[in-house]
Amino acid sequence: MNGAHEVLLSVRGVSVRFGGIRALDGVSFDVEKGKIVGLIGPNGAGKTTLFNCLSRLYEFQDGEIRFENRSLVEVPRHGIADLGIGRTFQNLALFRTMSVVENIMVGGHCRTRTGYVANMLRLPSVQTEEAKLRAKAEEMVRFLRLESVAHVPVGSLPFGYQKRVELGRALISDPKLLLLDEPAAGLNHEELDDLGRTIVDIRDRLNVTVLLVEHHMSLVMSISDKVVALDFGQKIAEGTPAEVQNHPDVIRAYLGTN
Ligand code: ATP
Repeated sequence: MNGAHEVLLSVRGVSVRFGGIRALDGVSFDVEKGKIVGLIGPNGAGKTTLFNCLSRLYEFQDGEIRFENRSLVEVPRHGIADLGIGRTFQNLALFRTMSVVENIMVGGHCRTRTGYVANMLRLPSVQTEEAKLRAKAEEMVRFLRLESVAHVPVGSLPFGYQKRVELGRALISDPKLLLLDEPAAGLNHEELDDLGRTIVDIRDRLNVTVLLVEHHMSLVMSISDKVVALDFGQKIAEGTPAEVQNHPDVIRAYLGTN
């Protein structure tokens, strides 16, 4: 694997408070380039809060987050995708009447360079960009094995396909880091296996580093290079899937015993 120990994302002592609640309390960990890192923890542990800090949707009160050694505080929310951080959300937000290819193209529009007037007048530069975007979306369709439904409206597809379309939409802008927020939610057994293979392919064939929030333990443990466990806003364990799975604090957090 390339750059096995190069740190892409560094989270240092990050704290987020909502009134009296400490959603994150001094959390630190690294995401190394070329890895799949799983972020686990019981409900309310702070996983989504951390994702929202990485997307600059939430402000953090203490600590620092660096991406490619650049502090995220310097980057406005709309600059996150340009920096190379892509994400999917817990709830799908696809355009149901638009086709698979069109939905994936939507993810690339933040990267197009032509301006409002050029778009309105459909200048040649706009048409070239549109053609490039379509070609890239079609490449993504092949990567995600969606060829047979490429021109079908997304709303009529089974949930597992829709999830893959969402992945395509996040991947078309060529992120260096992909944040996946509970991608397995609502999937059946077969779709789950398929998702696991796809995430591994995203790492190995597209060279995209992945940070994965997921409740589905067997998925996280089977594909992650490293797992970080949170509970009540604090990091309670970090290590290989086997180390984290057998960590007494992790077992305690999940079983709710003292
Ligand atoms: P789940 O697995 O259920 O999605 P989670 O690990 O993602 O949980 P968070 O959603 O990050 O946990 O929540 C951490 C804590 O912060 C919880 O106590 C939650 O109620 C609180 N919290 C999160 N967002 C907000 C907000 N916008 N306002 C107030 N409290 C919040």
